[in-house]
Amino acid sequence: MQLNIKIKVLPILIFALVFFMYQETPAQKKKPQGETATVEVKPVPPDINYSVSMSKPWTHLLEVEMRLNWANMPEIAEIKMPVWTPGSYLIREYARHVQDFAVKNPSGNALDWQKINKNSWQIDTRGAKEIVVSYKVYANELTVRTNELNADHAFFNNAALLMFPKGELNAPSTINVLPFGNWKVATGLPKVEGQTNTFRAENFDVLYDSPFEVGNFTEAPFTVDGVPHRYVFEGEGNYDAEKITRDTAKIVEQSKAIFGELPYKDYLFIVNLRSGGGGLEHLNSTALQWQKFGFKPEARYTAFLNLVAHEIFHVWNVKRIRPDALGPFDYENENYTKLLWVAEGATAYYEGVLLRRADLISDKEILDGKARLIEQLQARPGRFETSLEDSSFDAWIKYYRQDENSVNNQISYYDKGEVVNFLLDLEIRTASGGAKSLDDVMRFLYDEFSKKNKNFTPADYQKISETMAGKSLDDFFTKYVRGTADIDYNAIFSGIGVQLETGEEGIKQAYLGGTLAETDGRLTVRAVPADTPAYQFGLNINDQIVAIDGNRASQTFLQSHLTGKKPGEKIKLTIFRFDELREIEVTLGGRAKSDYKIVPVENPTDEQKRLYREYLKAELQ
Ligand SMILES: [Zn+2]
Repeated sequence: MQLNIKIKVLPILIFALVFFMYQETPAQKKKPQGETATVEVKPVPPDINYSVSMSKPWTHLLEVEMRLNWANMPEIAEIKMPVWTPGSYLIREYARHVQDFAVKNPSGNALDWQKINKNSWQIDTRGAKEIVVSYKVYANELTVRTNELNADHAFFNNAALLMFPKGELNAPSTINVLPFGNWKVATGLPKVEGQTNTFRAENFDVLYDSPFEVGNFTEAPFTVDGVPHRYVFEGEGNYDAEKITRDTAKIVEQSKAIFGELPYKDYLFIVNLRSGGGGLEHLNSTALQWQKFGFKPEARYTAFLNLVAHEIFHVWNVKRIRPDALGPFDYENENYTKLLWVAEGATAYYEGVLLRRADLISDKEILDGKARLIEQLQARPGRFETSLEDSSFDAWIKYYRQDENSVNNQISYYDKGEVVNFLLDLEIRTASGGAKSLDDVMRFLYDEFSKKNKNFTPADYQKISETMAGKSLDDFFTKYVRGTADIDYNAIFSGIGVQLETGEEGIKQAYLGGTLAETDGRLTVRAVPADTPAYQFGLNINDQIVAIDGNRASQTFLQSHLTGKKPGEKIKLTIFRFDELREIEVTLGGRAKSDYKIVPVENPTDEQKRLYREYLKAELQ
């Protein structure tokens, strides 16, 4: 930069040159000063101790005290609350739940403070080297990335609870939890010896990566190769802890087989049993949420194991194998990466891979699952609008903020990411004659990037995949990763002797299109995918369909009415839009009932049979 300035300035008037040279002088003098300073004095990080209490759980208020002891305490100290938590790519504005903020010096005198933006508090320390910040956080939202405190338990994510001193994210800290009554405390953080419920974090990336469960949970410990693992289940449910730990151990073993080691000293699964499902990955723990009675029948249990496998694979992929922008983290802004299709898509892909290798599902179940996923992808007009890289990059404003138009302008980097990583694995296996696979790509990223503390880029992922395949994959990445080309599945599937059947060659039946929902006898439009008759003839989101060809509208009536129609015939819809009655005439489209399946090709070669067997541990039949 300085050299460029000089070249531009030289032809100009001499006094200007002199002026610029003068400007550079202080910088030239500063340089040796800076070097001397870093050698002699290492900045002392603040000593940070948090206490988290919950004296009145029914109020949903977690009480935080942050004791900051710092030789370099600035006159004006700045304390900040994260706006998001890693793994969940949405600005959540955790500071909105903060109340009763106060600061004291060690003598107990209140210090002045002011908020300077949505998540920053400025404190006039008046020369104090120790300050005590206290505040409460309203915690009444049970998801894997928020906090909940109620009469039954506490679950909290530290990014949504604990503030940090500006610019000191490398500082270590301790956290002392004061549970309500006789509640127990579980976290992935290591304990401070000799102190009750006190834990240590080496820096804020570790602190913010370690959720807590506090309550009367049920514990289920087990080991894998001598490494302690444990489940804590909060809430009642129809789970079989012994079966879950046994199956989880098999999944962990299969993950370890890919990477060669378990990269943690111990691992914790926090399971909150309530409704819904979901998980958030952490360095040596995971927070899972599952339906209380969602462990039966077998298909629901398998879905739970998929979630478990997903979070275990994340131990490597994303927590340690880190995409360019994901770690160290900026907790105050969006962290943009084009690689969520690898971070999430490859992880979603490995759910099935790990379950198959652990013999917890069959080869047919894997292929049936992929066929359903492909069917959903092919039904989304958004696949022609957004590439995997763009979908990853815009997660902050799109994937986490879906609306009725998402089907038309977006794809999921989870779903298409899973499909494309599946295809990439097959490409590598086929091109290398079975010598290499996506496992080798993952292992390379772990050995050559993660262990060397390097993040990887989109170009790295392509290059490593090409090295393993032994050929260029530029066409594949250009079309399916950076581009929006429709995927030629069968060209890739043939490598392992299978093909995709869509069932779309059958008799075409009349259809309207559009996603409709019926509640309390009202039939309402929820989404209108592009290229459907509903889209073409102007049906809108939130239109309430009251009559179809003069008959009271309902899902049941519409279905039976359509069976009596042919593609190309018209129907009349009477709708309420903005409380006004109006009529729309729609010419019905025609489509065959799709039924996607992945089936063996006719007369597979020995090579196809061998690659199928090596991939899915079963015979092609
Ligand atoms: Zn994930």
